[in-house]
Amino acid sequence: MTRRPPLPLPAGRPGEVAVVGLGASGRAAAELLRRHGHAVYASDAGAAPRAREAAQALTALGVDVQPDGHDLARIARAACVVASPGVPPEAPPLAAAREAGVPVVGELEVALLAMPTLRYVAVTGTNGKTTTTALVGHLLRALGHEAPDAGNIGTPLASLALRDAPPPWVALEMSSFQLHDTPSVKPTVGVVTNLSPDHLDRYPDVAAYYADKARLFANADAGSRWVLNADDAAVLGLFHRWPGFADAHATLPGSVHGFSVADPERHAAIGPAGPLRFADAHYDRTRGTLVVLGSPLLDRAALPLMGDHNVANALAAALAVAVADPAHRTPDARAVIARALASFRALAHRLEAVGTFDGVTWINDSKATNVASTQVALAGMSRPTILLLGGRHKGDPYTPLIPELNRCAKVVLAYGEAAPLVERDLAGFVPVERLGSSFDEVMQRARAVSAPGDVVLLSPACSSYDMFANYEERGATFRRLAAVGDQTLPA
Ligand code: ADP
Repeated sequence: MTRRPPLPLPAGRPGEVAVVGLGASGRAAAELLRRHGHAVYASDAGAAPRAREAAQALTALGVDVQPDGHDLARIARAACVVASPGVPPEAPPLAAAREAGVPVVGELEVALLAMPTLRYVAVTGTNGKTTTTALVGHLLRALGHEAPDAGNIGTPLASLALRDAPPPWVALEMSSFQLHDTPSVKPTVGVVTNLSPDHLDRYPDVAAYYADKARLFANADAGSRWVLNADDAAVLGLFHRWPGFADAHATLPGSVHGFSVADPERHAAIGPAGPLRFADAHYDRTRGTLVVLGSPLLDRAALPLMGDHNVANALAAALAVAVADPAHRTPDARAVIARALASFRALAHRLEAVGTFDGVTWINDSKATNVASTQVALAGMSRPTILLLGGRHKGDPYTPLIPELNRCAKVVLAYGEAAPLVERDLAGFVPVERLGSSFDEVMQRARAVSAPGDVVLLSPACSSYDMFANYEERGATFRRLAAVGDQTLPA
């Protein structure tokens, strides 16, 4: 193993680095630190099989591993703590570190320090991060770059840094928690898709959540490039939370590019007041065209994704890739970007049409785990819709769904723990049926009330944890039961 130079981690004192959590990210971070010559202590709370597997591999590399508990005193003596993204800040090992004044960073920080020349497009926001990140990666690869997708989307960035030849480009999805723990974030292009209240189970208030999002700008300089949702006042308001925004006249360093799907009039109402006077990428609804940097890029009909929100995601991705490098703005490069947008396919569990059975189209939007994402899903519906809404309640009211439901809903099937709250918020405005916590029963009822030409949409606005292991299992169950039902129909 070639020894690499130590990483310039923030360190309160000399000594070992403690890695907390041995999921995929923690494991990759521990290995990376070791490769760079750091003394590493890595620990995990549970005895999950993957933590034990990681323990074996890391021990062989010289990491001191404790797979079944944390030595809090040892963590409090560490030079620095690297926290896995899944470990909540109030967990005892992180609380112990903070109390002892030990700096805490995340796996992304370690990976970025190990790849100082990496060019990356960082994507954050409340909704659309994964889709936009996947679009950015797809476009960069179409342009001939080696550019994996990494971060919150799945692949740990540290695992890319471990390669003998790390990739030159990355499409990086960053959650607010990851931004909180990545003090040296300095993307080639930073994208904010949109903002709305979310994660209020982990943040004291919306301001604290938005403040973490604003950390994207922490190291902004004149060479920075930002791609921001010009239709979203909360995104534009993030400027004021930029940590360097001490005096009222300061503006965010770097060039700022807006994208918009709003009508020009509405956009103008937001734009001139903020730092964005016009949108560099917008949806020309009259002509049905996506316009990027002053000229038409692609017909809306050629983009194979449902809903205006996906037009916004495509505009954000195309604009981010275009401003990332002048070579991406030539006529040839634009043609490549347009073709790549047309060949992109919807990701699983995100407005994914799973099939049309007996004239009824079943759409899996299991990833819609907050009210804002269900709202955009409904906005994309043009047929009578049976909405499956429920699961574990996350704190926000369901009333913002009423206008779209009035337009397209045939009935709302409220299920799971949130069913009484959904019924309380929506009954009287739209037809609501309250069901229990059997997903089989929910699907049977959906089938019974649907008629040819209808859509059955699973867009639950809730987390899945009351009935499923995660949103993927919920979506897979929907997909399986939708198709099973078809086989049981009379020929
Ligand atoms: P994230 O990674 O931020 O959770 P995803 O791309 O996985 O975002 O999409 C999650 C859900 O959010 C989708 O099911 C969709 O309903 C909704 N969504 C996607 N893009 C947007 C957007 N630009 N604006 C609002 N909602 C969106």
